[in-house]
Amino acid sequence: MPTDWPSVPKVVLHEHLDGNLRPETLLELCRERGVALPADTPDALQHWIHTQANSGSLERYVAAFGLTVAAMATPQACERVAFEAVQDCAVDGALLIELRMAPLLLEMHGLGGDEAVSALLAGLARGSAATGVPAGLIVCGMRSDAPSAVMRSAELALRFAGKGVVGYDLAGAERGFPATMHASAIAKAKEAGLGLTLHAGEADVGERVIEAIDLGATRIGHGVQITVSGEAGEGAVSRMARARDSGVHFEVCPTSNLHTGAWNDLKTHPLTAMQKAGLNWSVQADNRLISVLTQGSEFQAVHDVCGLPLAQIMQGQLRAAQASFLPAAERSRAAEQIKAWCMEQSIAIN
Ligand SMILES: [Zn+2]
Repeated sequence: MPTDWPSVPKVVLHEHLDGNLRPETLLELCRERGVALPADTPDALQHWIHTQANSGSLERYVAAFGLTVAAMATPQACERVAFEAVQDCAVDGALLIELRMAPLLLEMHGLGGDEAVSALLAGLARGSAATGVPAGLIVCGMRSDAPSAVMRSAELALRFAGKGVVGYDLAGAERGFPATMHASAIAKAKEAGLGLTLHAGEADVGERVIEAIDLGATRIGHGVQITVSGEAGEGAVSRMARARDSGVHFEVCPTSNLHTGAWNDLKTHPLTAMQKAGLNWSVQADNRLISVLTQGSEFQAVHDVCGLPLAQIMQGQLRAAQASFLPAAERSRAAEQIKAWCMEQSIAIN
């Protein structure tokens, strides 16, 4: 019997709010704000975004967010987008939801960081109340920004720690912008007790993953280049051993990797090598709107195309529950629900 992918329990660790809008919402918000639109129906708009994003370049992929960020630059829009994202994740089987955004991107459109974060948290809270699924916010800094701007994003995150912001991340273009440039902002977030996840080893080399671990990250966004041996320095085998021993969790988003050019073929996606190396990973969606997918469809893709058994996918979701930055009681509840579902389905995980 084919798997009903939306009914499979999931843990959302890696999704960007500005990459997850419903196309209809994006269209409405752009019209309300007078943002010039490249298309005038939800389908045509989604197609346009997908074409921009599916370009084989992380830089071009990130540029496709220009429209969504412009659309989100009011408190009402932030609240609505966050609320709808929680609803959409819940419909897709989510038990825990962490959503992320770089709020300071909205400044150029006139919305301040504190106002944006307050509105995003209000939307997450309304979504949680409506669905019963716990949700938290990860604040991102943009790694291509000056260290002072990234520090401001960490300070913003800290002002909302304990009020719904559960973690800190660096996102955006990677090559030429190593996380070490922003070591003080990262240390500030980490020392204040926020969860730390860093995009690393997505477009740039696997060594960036090791740097992220050394900076205190307990989770890595993507990290797939860790499976590739570089021209200099230690090779993939020793880097993967280092990552495995650290216990760091990899938030792996396979289709996004194809769209950004981080990898070129789903059949040979590094997830298989990561599994063989004993790494701690889970399948994540990254951007539902931009890549036209759901987390459920990502499970299906890695199952059908990469040949990963459902048991490995679900073991990954259990690890994701354990790696979540949400409160311990909520993590344990989700872990128990995943175990119970697997037992019911006779899927062996441990
Ligand atoms: Zn991401």
